[in-house]
Amino acid sequence: MHTVVAEKGIREYSKKGIRVGKYELGKTLGEGNFSKVKFATDVQSGQSFAIKILDRKRITDLNITDQIIREIETSKILKHPHIVKLHKVFASNCKTKICMVLEYVTGGELFYKIKQGGRLTETEGRKLFQQLIDGVSYCHKQGIFHRDLKLENILLDSTGNIKICDFGFSALPQHFRSDGLLHTACGTPNYVAPEILANKGYDGAAADIWSCGVILFAILSGYLPFLDRNLAALYQKIYKGKVEIPEWLSPGARALIRRILDPSPATRIN
Ligand code: ATP
Repeated sequence: MHTVVAEKGIREYSKKGIRVGKYELGKTLGEGNFSKVKFATDVQSGQSFAIKILDRKRITDLNITDQIIREIETSKILKHPHIVKLHKVFASNCKTKICMVLEYVTGGELFYKIKQGGRLTETEGRKLFQQLIDGVSYCHKQGIFHRDLKLENILLDSTGNIKICDFGFSALPQHFRSDGLLHTACGTPNYVAPEILANKGYDGAAADIWSCGVILFAILSGYLPFLDRNLAALYQKIYKGKVEIPEWLSPGARALIRRILDPSPATRIN
């Protein structure tokens, strides 16, 4: 992969091994579909990191090389207090693994916070939502669209501030077609915008904002706005923007959720 450079002196990563280059690996922090994220310590500086380890063969087998290149390229560009920082990328000696050295975020996923502790107060929810919008708006100003914003991709740091992670589905300006729209359907079913389901091309910014609305709803209510075991039924609900906003939320929060979860991207709040 052209974006990955083999680091001098790196020891091959093996199941038994605990060192990758100058990093000593610790516990597994998370696991995605194509990667394992491990806690790591830089043995020279003692600094903590999270290393996302990707298996090259699996990437090739799954035909997701472009996706990984995109994740690395966008992560290199983005530098913002509410976005997980990518420090460097290297390949293992015999190039079977790709290692992304990331800023270590200690507080876990927002998903688990809501799952374990339930909904947040509007004061706390407002703070996290403002940080989310700050990070997302920064991405959009760089011409980058996340396309998979969800509670699992929002991490919390030691002081309870958010860090957006996982830019594997992100889009850059060169991914726009001549109609000025994006056409690749991606995202996670419960968070996906109706215009993506319509399959006629979509504005990446408006689609990200929809996902932020789903996140805001979940933060303030403790559950997702669009739920159905049947995928076709779920998509119907999303398509119609059929959402019941809890009456106990403040009028301001209700109005904002309604303005974001507007099925028409043209009138949706930007
Ligand atoms: P998916 O298959 O869901 O797209 P992925 O393979 O792209 O996942 P990530 O979502 O980037 O992997 O990371 C998986 C999990 O690892 C995260 O949900 C989180 O729990 C943990 N994680 C990722 N990055 C960090 C980090 N910088 N600090 C701490 N934990 C992290």
